[in-house]
Amino acid sequence: MNQPPLQTAAELPQRVTAAVAAMPAAGIDALVLTPGTALRYLAGYDAMISERLTALVLPAAGEPFLLVPELERTGALDSPAVRDGLSLLTWAETEDPARLVADQLRARTRDEPRVLGVDDTMQARHLLALAAALPNARPVVAGQVLDRLRLVKDPFELDQLRTAGAAIDRVHSRMGEWLRPGRTEREVGADLAAAITGEHAEVDFVIVGSGPNGASPHHGVSDRVIEAGDPVVVDIGGILDSGYRSDCTRTYVLGEPDPAFLALYEVLQSAQQGGVAAARAGVSAGSVDDATRAPIEAAGYGEAFPHRTGHGIGLDGHEPPWILHGNDTLLEVGMAFSVEPGIYLAGRFGARIEDIVLVTEDGTEAVNTTTHDLVRLNT
Ligand code: ZN
Ligand code: ZN
Repeated sequence: MNQPPLQTAAELPQRVTAAVAAMPAAGIDALVLTPGTALRYLAGYDAMISERLTALVLPAAGEPFLLVPELERTGALDSPAVRDGLSLLTWAETEDPARLVADQLRARTRDEPRVLGVDDTMQARHLLALAAALPNARPVVAGQVLDRLRLVKDPFELDQLRTAGAAIDRVHSRMGEWLRPGRTEREVGADLAAAITGEHAEVDFVIVGSGPNGASPHHGVSDRVIEAGDPVVVDIGGILDSGYRSDCTRTYVLGEPDPAFLALYEVLQSAQQGGVAAARAGVSAGSVDDATRAPIEAAGYGEAFPHRTGHGIGLDGHEPPWILHGNDTLLEVGMAFSVEPGIYLAGRFGARIEDIVLVTEDGTEAVNTTTHDLVRLNT
């Protein structure tokens, strides 16, 4: 299914305005954003990551511009921000693009920039070239300004996350077609990848952790043959055309599992539910982790839950807020994150339940709605 195209440029100017407004308090004179989700967030431009420098440059005071290699001109012209009037500059193969950024910044701002907010994922070669071209500027991460803005999703983003959630739910609801004893995790994973692509623009990741492999939280897939009685952790995600992502875990069993697994799963299910129930505007992200972890610890599985309860999601699959003990970030309406406790018994099996939830006026809204009860397949 094709997703409706793309981000309307409607939200982009507000995001740019908010980013520029936040720079003085952070002491940042200009943001320099290379291809990645920050650039996409502010300009709607899904630029290719490359050894050739592409950069959106936003001075705290002065006209912003997008610099791209000459050969990327057509794509850049088509980007929402440029269509909306953002100044586009190109550089020829024989030019030094870092020098061009420096010259433009000096021309567009009154003072030589002292602090540059560089893209958190900027390649070292680009960062070093910029540092050489602007020797008086100290680089800091642009996330200091942008993370705060991206924490609270605008209506367009919330809508995309709902769309992504429904898309991955449709894949989970078909699991019985693929998950059978005698098939390998890799075979199941290939079917899942095809189904995810059918519901999104592309696959983000596929985890099929059967039997003992379910005890490794980021397992991936292997050539292990799935057996009757296996619990199977399936954590899958895709990326919509708009760049927004899905991420959902369900644990399945093939036939009758070990009774110890059923006991573990019951604890996990109530922990996940308790975590979601604790999440609402005004409470800390850390308190959601604590609420999720408490029943798992009380049941004696504390050591078997080694990761945080969750992570934010948006254009990045993992982004703030981190749902982690001690994080005093207060939840706000419009935040989006996973609640995904897991219990992992090395050498035996594991289980995880993960939903993405949005913080609403009344509590939370889960974008994933397939059952949390243990689903027995192909018995
Ligand atoms: Zn996941
Ligand atoms: Zn996740």
